[in-house]
Amino acid sequence: MNAQQSLNEKPVHELLALIEKGEIHPRDVISDVYRAIAQREDQIRAYISIAPPEHLLQGCERLRDRPLRGLPIAVKDNISTVDLKTTCASRFLEDFQPIFDATVIERLKDAGAQILGKTNLDEFAMGSSTENSAFFPTRNPHDLERVPGGSSGGSAAAVAAHEALWALGSDTGGSIRQPASFCGIVGLKPTYGLVSRYGLVAFASSLDQIGPMTKDVRDCALLLNVIAGRDRRDSTSLERPCDDYTRDLGQDIKGFRVGVPKEYIVDLSSQARACVEAWVKIFQELGAEVREISLPHTEYAIPTYYLISSSEASANLARFDGVRYTKRISDLSMEAMFAESRARCFGPEVKRRIMIGTYALRAGYYEAWYGKAQRVRTLIRQDFERAFQTVDIIISPTSPTPAFKLGERMKDPLAMYLSDIFTVPASLAGIPAISIPGGKVEGLPFGLQIIGDKLQEAKILRAAYAFEQSHTPAVSPTEQ
Ligand code: GLN
Repeated sequence: MNAQQSLNEKPVHELLALIEKGEIHPRDVISDVYRAIAQREDQIRAYISIAPPEHLLQGCERLRDRPLRGLPIAVKDNISTVDLKTTCASRFLEDFQPIFDATVIERLKDAGAQILGKTNLDEFAMGSSTENSAFFPTRNPHDLERVPGGSSGGSAAAVAAHEALWALGSDTGGSIRQPASFCGIVGLKPTYGLVSRYGLVAFASSLDQIGPMTKDVRDCALLLNVIAGRDRRDSTSLERPCDDYTRDLGQDIKGFRVGVPKEYIVDLSSQARACVEAWVKIFQELGAEVREISLPHTEYAIPTYYLISSSEASANLARFDGVRYTKRISDLSMEAMFAESRARCFGPEVKRRIMIGTYALRAGYYEAWYGKAQRVRTLIRQDFERAFQTVDIIISPTSPTPAFKLGERMKDPLAMYLSDIFTVPASLAGIPAISIPGGKVEGLPFGLQIIGDKLQEAKILRAAYAFEQSHTPAVSPTEQ
């Protein structure tokens, strides 16, 4: 390990080992993280709010016997925290101070983690670039002219710029994986139901999952260990024995059957295609057997996702009415107050989704739009079920392109939606998928996505770890 490396650049598992040996103190790590924030945050703008350093420096003394030793974590600002506001990057919740912690936050605190700050996102997690934040866009640490991806762009940028050791994101159709790909870090969307959604502000309830965003695969497994598990406050959370997701890391993947969906590689640039070819070679060298597979309903994934997610969003966001929560445009009749509060406090993308969703759910049209989308969702899930009868994992790029320029896709919502083409299918199927650094395209990070069957997190982490070990380490923007 590079002796010059400051502590905030190291993965958490290495820091914990150093703390264990008495070589460093959690205080030193916290100081290095705040130093990076002081140096880079003005440019990157990953955070909506940041906890005062004294708070964490004091806290780590109290937490020194807990497994995570008081080390800090960044949290996407749509996850409820009592210590810091939870804004969803929306004017509606600008001043909203929750009175309870999300289950994942409770678990992290019990394990001895401290909340470092709340990270920027597309308003209510709707978007793929973090430009839909009502407050400010976040920039990609690898190229400040480019987006960090979205909607968990703040979490991805914070980890990539070493302004955080690790972070939580949320993923409805790709919001953990796509920013992880754009920023050159690791991001995992767990199986639907593996991680509690209690305290996650709902966007599309049948798709939303919280997951880890980390510097390497081992940290990803470690963080999943902390947050996964049954929660009686989320009725969709799964009843299952706790797994140790670090257990299989380091085991070989000889004989693994790896599928490459032919529908995912048709429109790739030559550089992106070269990356996919290089991945195939690496997996073959690791002893896996790579074969082409077909997921025939892929072309319907985007319209299906946008119909279902917008329908659920239009229902979930009905609670923001100017009466409950914070912002209210008052001095008006009751009805005008509802309308004005919503007109002034939601941004344009959120309004677009509410309108699409309300349209799709309309009496008389429900079957033709929402009902049909649900049936296509089943076909997409069956594509994967069929594929997993013949392969162990599926690999693909996380996104068709590397990070695009700020402003480039803001005028064209369809172009923005299409950046989700490879992430949305696994979301609709409710199955786990990870994005890990897979090399560079146009000089920018380009993520490899590994998709697994339901609850096969241990398997995709094992494959991701084998790939990571055989391949270049995560590209750090500070090394450029
Ligand atoms: N980009 C997708 C959308 O805009 C996914 C968002 C997400 O996963 N939260 O809906």
